[in-house]
Amino acid sequence: MSRSSDLLARANTVIPGGVNSPVRAFKAVGGDPPFIARGEGVEIVDEDGHRYLDLVGSWGALIAGHAPPSVVRAATDAIAKGSSFGAPTEAEIVLAEALVARIPSLDKVRLCSSGTEATMHAVRLARGFTGRDAIVKLEGCYHGAHDSMLVAAGSGVATFALPGSPGVPEGTAKNTLVAPFNDADAVRALFEAHPGAIAGVILEPIAGNMGCLAPREGYLQALREICDTHGALLIFDEVMCGLRVGRGTAQELYGVTPDLSCFGKIVGGGFPLAVFGGREAVMNHLAPIGPVYQAGTLSGNPVAVAAGTATLALLDEAAYDRLEALGQRLDAGLADVIAECGCTYRRVGSMFTIFFRSELPWSFAEVKECDLDAFGRFLRASLDHGVYMPPSQFEAAFLNIALTDADVDRAIVGLSAALRTATA
Ligand code: PLP
Repeated sequence: MSRSSDLLARANTVIPGGVNSPVRAFKAVGGDPPFIARGEGVEIVDEDGHRYLDLVGSWGALIAGHAPPSVVRAATDAIAKGSSFGAPTEAEIVLAEALVARIPSLDKVRLCSSGTEATMHAVRLARGFTGRDAIVKLEGCYHGAHDSMLVAAGSGVATFALPGSPGVPEGTAKNTLVAPFNDADAVRALFEAHPGAIAGVILEPIAGNMGCLAPREGYLQALREICDTHGALLIFDEVMCGLRVGRGTAQELYGVTPDLSCFGKIVGGGFPLAVFGGREAVMNHLAPIGPVYQAGTLSGNPVAVAAGTATLALLDEAAYDRLEALGQRLDAGLADVIAECGCTYRRVGSMFTIFFRSELPWSFAEVKECDLDAFGRFLRASLDHGVYMPPSQFEAAFLNIALTDADVDRAIVGLSAALRTATA
């Protein structure tokens, strides 16, 4: 028995499934999850002393790798001055100003503690602002684990092939209208079928929760036009792709301006922090100046804010150029083996997925056609070769700025061997 298996058995007695978030359990790929003892730069070390090159990075949060010195320093300095006040601080303004300066669609932002909260509040705000109840979401996009978004969702919901979740009232689910990703006509049809009822469209502009899916050319622009035509809000959930692709955000990469956007993961530098923001007229509908209620005891937590601000300071143009160079190295190193194994691969900025399907998927339905048994074999073999990848075909992997060229070469060697094992 490994120490990780012992810990899983122990965890199972006090934590459902032994984990605090379902995908961590490795149920979809077989085997037991390694329990993590520590992270060091680009590596994680499990409780049995195995070292892995970490291409999960806390599901995308760790764009600077584990424990980057400037972030550790900022968080340590902050906690020494008090871990929480539940009162306004100057540091929150600094982070808000940095985001507003960096992302043109943001006039104002509100800080909260998780991506789930950010999208929940953005959806409520869209409903409150427009006075409409329905919301359009896209199949396979994941916006966190709150009621109105647990319909046709990606991530763990897709990993375990769940249609939704018991416990979500029918009355709530019926206000969530669903269209396929990359199909603007389907969204248009929903607006025509529900005139004056739809508050907005929420999506991951680059999806990462059904593997890494890119928007087809013109798709995001079409959604913008549809929302404008019908007086609805366009909400970009950039909790995963925001501050990670191109020079920062998907909205910048594709030149489409949403009314509201959500950020998480990277923005908290590995601490629980998320942000939603957008047009001033919409944001001013929030309490205490507007009627839409939103609140949080730990919102704007000073330690998380310090870590987030220090992480943003690392993300200059050179950082994104570096990520792109690392990505191109990965592309070149994997191209032949991916073709040889009958798989496909997509990378957008520093997000990527290897799909066990001979044609590149563009929708959730197509991702579901992947050979999930082969993916399971690949995942287990990747661990054997010292590369830690997300344990689901319905998730993206991530590069970070702490990686060297030699680390990427190590990833190429490990992933190539795992691909050959999985498809032999
Ligand atoms: N939105 C997207 C796009 C995500 O990827 C996630 C989490 O993976 C969430 C929202 C929910 O964020 P959190 O897990 O911080 O609640």
